[in-house]
Amino acid sequence: MESANQKIDLENTNISLYIKREDLLHPHISGNKIRKLKYNLAQANRENKKTLLTFGGAFSNHILAVAAAGNEQEFKTIGVIRGEELQDKIAENPTLKKAQDFGMVFYFVDREIFREKSSPKFIHQLTEKFGDFYLIPEGGTNNLAVKGCEEILTVNDEKFDYICCAIGTGGTISGLINCSKNSQQVLGFPALKGDFLRQDISKFVSKSNWDLITDYHFGGYAKVSEELILFINEFYEKHKIPLDPIYTGKMMFGLLDLIHKNYFPENSKILVIHTGGLQGVAGINNLLKQKNQLQITIYD
Ligand SMILES: *Cc1c(COP(=O)(O)O)cnc(C)c1O
Repeated sequence: MESANQKIDLENTNISLYIKREDLLHPHISGNKIRKLKYNLAQANRENKKTLLTFGGAFSNHILAVAAAGNEQEFKTIGVIRGEELQDKIAENPTLKKAQDFGMVFYFVDREIFREKSSPKFIHQLTEKFGDFYLIPEGGTNNLAVKGCEEILTVNDEKFDYICCAIGTGGTISGLINCSKNSQQVLGFPALKGDFLRQDISKFVSKSNWDLITDYHFGGYAKVSEELILFINEFYEKHKIPLDPIYTGKMMFGLLDLIHKNYFPENSKILVIHTGGLQGVAGINNLLKQKNQLQITIYD
């Protein structure tokens, strides 16, 4: 499984920029999520599990990925969803609607209970309610997910000086760091606020050729501004590459900003990973429409 690197033409710079189109790997199991699920599903099969259970929010790429992967590989799937109020709004939520169409069963919980998602007591309660299952953490990050993400880079990518990616839980960048060359620098752009990421990533990696660029979260997870939406629309018009507003749009905004501020040495070769997430556009657009704000006006 290897995706193509596509050149992005930049003006007024000698930096060369390529994007790895992991978003094209699968229509529903978005970009990095297919990497993160690969060895987890193999492990679930090995353990003879019939059901996958995982956690996520209203627009979660991970929830839809688990639902679609379960449908393909004949697992039952259970999604523990943050926000009881969503229970009556499945039809209006494109992500949950699609996940349900793939056969996922939902269990909606309030935010307080959701926070207990890794407590043994809550997991025990889930077992009593749903029977035996293979548990995949929120966002899908664990050792097996990192192992899957170590397959994103190939020998052809060794020529790049920088590898960039968006960060949610840190699983994807951990895999990238582990399979990078020591001479390469891996830069992560967190899509959310929080100081815990460095520690989380350090649990999965032993190399030190990486850093986080923490200035481009736009106020926090799934928060968007008109400036960001304008950027995504213009980027699509110029390059015909769709970006999502939660992860890849913020990363690309930040990366181009850094390039224009001469953050990178002359003639640097940069590879950014398109981790997917395009299914989330419809849901964010619904919210923007309700607020009478500019929407992402693109693709399909
Ligand atoms: C989930 C996701 C990420 C974050 O990946 P982590 O491994 O959690 O850091 C980045 N981009 C997209 C599009 C995603 O769906």
